[in-house]
Amino acid sequence: MQNIRNFAIIAHVDHGKSTLADRLMELTGTVDRNAHEEQMLDRNPISRERGITIKLAPVRMNYRYSMNDERGTNSNSAYILNLIDTPGHVDFSYEVDRTLSCVEGVILLVDATQGIQAQTISNAYKALEKNLVIIPVVNKIDMPTAQVAETKQALVDFLGVTEEEIIEISAKTGQNVASVLKRIVNNIPPPEADNLQPTTLQALIFDSYFDQHKGVVSFVRIFSGSVRKNQKLHLVIGNRSFDSLEVGIFTPDLHETDSLTLGEIGYIVTNLKDIHDVRVGDTVSEQKQTTPLPGYRKVKPMVFASLFPTDTVDYEHLTRALEKIYLTDSSLEFNAIYSQALGPGYRVGFLGLLHADVVRERLEREYDLSLLLTPPQVDYWIENDTYHEPYVRISIITPSDYIGAVTQICEHHRARFVTMDNKHQVYMEYEMPLSEMISDFFDKLKSVTSGYASFDWEFLRYEAVNADKLSLLLNGEEVEEFSEIVVADRSQEKARTITKKLKELIPRQQFEVRIQAAYKGRIIASERIAPFRKDVLIKSGKVVGGGDYGRKAKLLEKQKRGKKRMKSIGNVEIPKEAFMGLFRK
Ligand code: GDP
Ligand code: MG
Repeated sequence: MQNIRNFAIIAHVDHGKSTLADRLMELTGTVDRNAHEEQMLDRNPISRERGITIKLAPVRMNYRYSMNDERGTNSNSAYILNLIDTPGHVDFSYEVDRTLSCVEGVILLVDATQGIQAQTISNAYKALEKNLVIIPVVNKIDMPTAQVAETKQALVDFLGVTEEEIIEISAKTGQNVASVLKRIVNNIPPPEADNLQPTTLQALIFDSYFDQHKGVVSFVRIFSGSVRKNQKLHLVIGNRSFDSLEVGIFTPDLHETDSLTLGEIGYIVTNLKDIHDVRVGDTVSEQKQTTPLPGYRKVKPMVFASLFPTDTVDYEHLTRALEKIYLTDSSLEFNAIYSQALGPGYRVGFLGLLHADVVRERLEREYDLSLLLTPPQVDYWIENDTYHEPYVRISIITPSDYIGAVTQICEHHRARFVTMDNKHQVYMEYEMPLSEMISDFFDKLKSVTSGYASFDWEFLRYEAVNADKLSLLLNGEEVEEFSEIVVADRSQEKARTITKKLKELIPRQQFEVRIQAAYKGRIIASERIAPFRKDVLIKSGKVVGGGDYGRKAKLLEKQKRGKKRMKSIGNVEIPKEAFMGLFRK
């Protein structure tokens, strides 16, 4: 236990975490320098393609410390270094939360060409809250645009560290990365047993997934005791028993070992098949009565959208796919719904827009589903006839040239200014309704700052707001799929946009179609689609012979069948493409 060091790499997205992890694995001989792909911990195919880490990823490295140690400990000792790589994007910050409960220290990596960014700050605060040792590292010093001195100064101001404590590296070339390993050994404390019953197993589940062949595999950090194969074990919170079929470590692939002991990070293959039995944050022990570890605060989805298979026969398949994704992603929430027009589907809660996008992509790619995702919305609650909407605190870091533009778009998104501070870059804080943030705020922010601004957010509270349902009516009948809660300030523009769009998307019918948007009991926008007389009884200008009843009946029958490919809402028929067109951005 004295020779174990557990640490995570945290940073803003793209500052080089996964690249540094590659170098550390090579330096310790964990992987062969020439025999792996870049960012090898990003094993999820979507991670690879998008170049972003969306899952935490652990790896165990053996490290022989062979330099003279200033503290006079063994000058040639073997260490076990457990590294957990984390995602930087704000939607996946719960992966960081889970990781930080398993480690004693972090490497805080800052890209010298970018400086401190929004997630640098939020992730550093998380590490500080947990009293973890922070090793500040400035990365990408090989780049001509690197501003090493400025970045170091910003870190000195932000963390209160001295300049000498900051390590300068290039994760790409490997320059000075060896000194990061030494600092980990010297500065991060070994895991401690602060437990009254140090021999009783307490293992924190910080991740798990379902494997086709093995069953449910759980990632654990051992806080006390030890675990072996073929043990009778218990989920303390979930109150379920299971057997350990295998235990092992991450190399980074699963590698079986005899046991996992105090302070170690590894995995347990369970004999559980039902993915809902194993919750991330639960404690594994031999005994039911063991006190559970603190676990995690449950993350609450903030953004909701409905998900329908484009072909209703895929519904069962979608159900199973969602259940599987749910095991590795406990933040996902889903409830079965039925839409008159689109058939059976799910209302799904996500952590944010990127999360929604990644889940949809995983479902489509890993489970071969074709899906329709309605535009994400926030959750309103009503009390005494008043709507309440979720507010978030957003923090923006931007070069000072863009303050004016950023202020302007924030105001357009109903945001209230909180504070601002400009030491190196400008740091601005606002309170904003979540519904505004998930509209096109982020795209606009990127565009008005030429891509320079970075952005972070967290949920604040619900606030009363003047809002109501904007009902979309087709020939007087409400279409639930097109209706949503809208704040009064946005009702006029939303009503106009949706009625216009639907006018383009709904094909002409044999009667007039009135498209109306109603808000607080008034029609506030309307369009009409003129009728189209597709009279099958008139062919090339000639009326089909009145006496030929058989033929007439056949044509009418054919016309009826044609209609069936459409979804009917009241008496209006809408092709599925219209829904797709409306829901696509
Ligand atoms: P992460 O999102 O923090 O995991 O960042 P990645 O490790 O995926 O790196 C983001 C990009 O920065 C990749 O294109 C890397 O090749 C590049 N990168 C990382 N470290 C360095 C470095 O030290 N120098 C240079 N020039 N590029 C780097
Ligand atoms: Mg990464």
